[in-house]
Parts: sequence; structure tokens; C-alpha cells
Amino acid sequence: MKKAIVLLSGGLDSATILYYAKTQGFDPYCLVFDYGQRHNKEIEQAKKIAKNAKCSFEVMKISLPWQGSALLNKKMPLPNRKLFKANDIPSTYVPARNIIFLSFAVSFSEAIGASAVFIGANAIDYSGYPDCRPDFFKAYEKVLAKGLKSGIQKKPIKIITPLIDKTKAQIIAMGLELKVPYHLTWSCYRGGARPCGKCESCSLRQKGFDTLGIVDPLLLNLN
Ligand SMILES: [Zn+2]
Repeated sequence: MKKAIVLLSGGLDSATILYYAKTQGFDPYCLVFDYGQRHNKEIEQAKKIAKNAKCSFEVMKISLPWQGSALLNKKMPLPNRKLFKANDIPSTYVPARNIIFLSFAVSFSEAIGASAVFIGANAIDYSGYPDCRPDFFKAYEKVLAKGLKSGIQKKPIKIITPLIDKTKAQIIAMGLELKVPYHLTWSCYRGGARPCGKCESCSLRQKGFDTLGIVDPLLLNLN
């Protein structure tokens, strides 16, 4: 069976691609990052999702002591999505996050002979991060072709972004068909017992379920 690394955050998008990777004939190895997020809840949920999917997982503890993001610095306020202007990059942007995560993932891939890395990046209902755009992933694949042993040997590692052009509602519809356990996923930038309902991540998730006319199973589970 083909091996793949799946970047799993515990959120809705990455849970969806984990189940998607399985339907594409891959044996997924989940890579979860503990990078100093505001809370540990999403990491705990990521472990539950990996176990539910019967996939192995690795939690990588890394540190970005220079921070530079509201997701890492609790003293910075989380932005309210309704106040965004088009083309703004919000303060929840983490400097170079996807470059860092993907670099660990391709190292893991080469070491175990995996041929692909799945990442749940999305360029439609997303937060304006430059490292979630198709252009970035295409350019990054070129880097891998030049800078890795597998690239030089003409067996380049693919970066697969199945959600890149989907709306949040389309992602959820896809996940429901794949039987993704959305009650186990956590999207809120804040920890706590219930999602805050106000941060950009909660807003996008809510919009997706509302568009489909269904109640978020996470909220059902909490009632
Ligand atoms: Zn929230």
C-alpha cells in the first residue's frame, strides 16, 4: 500500500483529508504539531481522530519562541472575522507555518518511503494566508524536486491539497460522505468546553454547516 503523510491539526479540514487519503488507496501516517498553540484541545482531538481512522500518529513538539502570531501569543487579541478587509492577512497568520510543517512532513516521507503529503489547505473559505494558495504549493513542489534525494531520483514527493478550491460547505459535504467524525474535530482558536462562535475559524465552520442546513455535530455533542 502507498504510504502518505497527512498533516492533522484536529480541525475539520485536516480530518476530512485524512479520510479522503484512505479512499485514494493510501496508508496514512498522521503528523500532528504541538507548536505552542493557545490551547492543547486541538492536539487531543487530532489524536482521537487518528485513532478513529485507525491510523498511526506522531506528535511533533516544536517551538517558535519568536511567536509573531495571535495564535501563539495569548496577549494578542484574536481578530473578529467580521472586521476584516479583503486581502488583509489577519494576525492569526503564523510566520512560515506551512513551509515549516511541510518540511517536517517531507522529511518524514523520505524516511519511510511515502510518496505524498496531504494538507488540508483551502484558498476559498480561508483566512487570507499566503501559504494556503495553489501558487505556493506548486512552487514548493519545485523546491522538493530540486532539493530532495527523491526529487533527484525522479520520484518526487507530491503535495496533495484536495480541498484547495472547495468552499467550507463543499468540504463538509465531502466529509459527511466519507463519514468523517466531525463531532471529534475542533476548529475554535480558543480552547474551552465549547467553541466561542466568534473567532474567524468558528465563523467559517458555522457558515459551512449553515449553508448545508445542518447542525454542527460538535455542537450537538456538547448539548
Ligand atoms: Zn472560536
